[in-house]
Amino acid sequence: MLTGKHLIAGHWVGGDRTFHSSPSKGSAHEFSVGTPAEVEQAAQAAEAAFASFGYSSREERAVFLDLIADEIYARGDAIIEIGCQETGLPEARLIGELGRTVGQLRLFAQYIAEGDYLDRRHDRALPERSPLPRPDMRLMQRPVGPVAVFGASNFPLAFSVAGGDTASALAAGCPVIVKGHSAHPGTGELVAKAIDAARQVLNLHPGVFSFIQGGNREAGQALVQDPRVKAVGFTGSLGGGRALFNLCAQRPEPIPFFGELGSVNPMFLMPTAVAQRGGAIAEGWAGSLTMGAGQFCTNPGLAILIDGDDAERFIETAGKTLEGIGAQTMLTDGIAEAYRGGAGRIQASSGVREVLVTSCDNRNATPYLFVTSGREWLENATLGEEVFGPLGLVVKVADFDEMLTVASSLEGQLTCTLHLDTDDIAQSRQLMPIIERKAGRVLANGFPTGVEVCDSMVHGGPYPASTNFGATSVGTMAIRRFLRPVCYQNLPVELLPADLQSLE
Ligand code: NAP
Repeated sequence: MLTGKHLIAGHWVGGDRTFHSSPSKGSAHEFSVGTPAEVEQAAQAAEAAFASFGYSSREERAVFLDLIADEIYARGDAIIEIGCQETGLPEARLIGELGRTVGQLRLFAQYIAEGDYLDRRHDRALPERSPLPRPDMRLMQRPVGPVAVFGASNFPLAFSVAGGDTASALAAGCPVIVKGHSAHPGTGELVAKAIDAARQVLNLHPGVFSFIQGGNREAGQALVQDPRVKAVGFTGSLGGGRALFNLCAQRPEPIPFFGELGSVNPMFLMPTAVAQRGGAIAEGWAGSLTMGAGQFCTNPGLAILIDGDDAERFIETAGKTLEGIGAQTMLTDGIAEAYRGGAGRIQASSGVREVLVTSCDNRNATPYLFVTSGREWLENATLGEEVFGPLGLVVKVADFDEMLTVASSLEGQLTCTLHLDTDDIAQSRQLMPIIERKAGRVLANGFPTGVEVCDSMVHGGPYPASTNFGATSVGTMAIRRFLRPVCYQNLPVELLPADLQSLE
């Protein structure tokens, strides 16, 4: 069923060097290692494809996106089977993620059909204006050109080969080259086949979509440096994202790198809420923290509350609830190792109390819970670094002023959460201007895991949550990353893009 090859401009091509997948169960498969030579071919084809795809109609692209959704859906059983083997994620989770991936493609099809994203503007000519006449000016958003996409290990479907980056780039009219994630190469290949099948049905240029397997870092690095690539969508770790972001900035022609990176997603627990329902919040937190072995970018790893009896009760309930949660399989051996390393780093930090220290081996993860004070937190910046997995850190601040200081010290986040009751509104109002500057999404009385795909979603935030605070990688606004505004001054109607010609 698997070729183990790359999809370059409509052809499945292999190479001399190979790597083996490392599934959590089932047998490993052999895959060709991606090289700069494949990147060269894919980029050349993508640039050639832009000449037609970049000028395709919104209706044509909507049909393409819907067809990709159909082709993925038709291969659903096989995709889920290999996805579960490669990632260790449970079947129900991947069934849900497949639905989300297909839904996301259909959402973009519908969204571009409406056309609002083009942001068309028209300033009519004012020939009689004095002292200077005004020319006829029109504006609309145009696709940027070929886009490179790097998916994350923890969403093998929704943030991978046909995930939000690919869907939004294709919707915009940009050919896409995906660098496959080495944690799920077989899943990636099957999804790439689905995209290519849809492309063939519509007889689109083969360079519209290419898929290059990983197996080393060279292919990804060559991809972001290729002069024909005009933007990069990346979801993954801070270290990997930063390395590729730097390469984009160092190019002779720098390009935007839209990196969605890690976050500790702090929760501020306000005093009345903790007093009234601290136990329920603790239980909810434990559930959110351990869902999917804590391998979510929106995992709420940090809880901040004011020291006292209510805080101790909250910690005790959280510890007891977490204790009852068993070992879960992590996505890769490396991620499991990094998780244990991160837990060890926090455990070894001064001023940190262990509430729950667990032991897990191989590719497994069990929860950890630690407590520190606001003062220690402020003195030790490493306590604010993401530990990817089911690890919680409670910061007990001395008073509300210290809570404000801790909030101000945070780095950029994907989300910040407030747990509050009516009597907490006044203090929460003081926190709002601080946390609003820190996060792409602020939420109340809930947990940030579970990212709705909709028009209002912002999945991004100030660095290091993302490398571009003006962007989101989830929701319809994600398309903006792959568009640029062009102004057409006094152009004859025949030379205007079709979408502008009819503009009054
Ligand atoms: P990762 O290790 O950074 O890998 C992401 C991709 O980048 C892979 O294709 C990887 O290639 C490539 N890569 C990494 N470092 C590179 C380098 N130096 N040069 C060239 N290519 C490089 O991330 P991950 O383990 O898949 O994902 C886990 C992280 O993603 C967590 O920190 C999590 O919080 C974050 N995340 C963020 C979001 C979000 O939306 N913000 C969503 C999900 C996850 P290989 O295949 O060769 O490893």
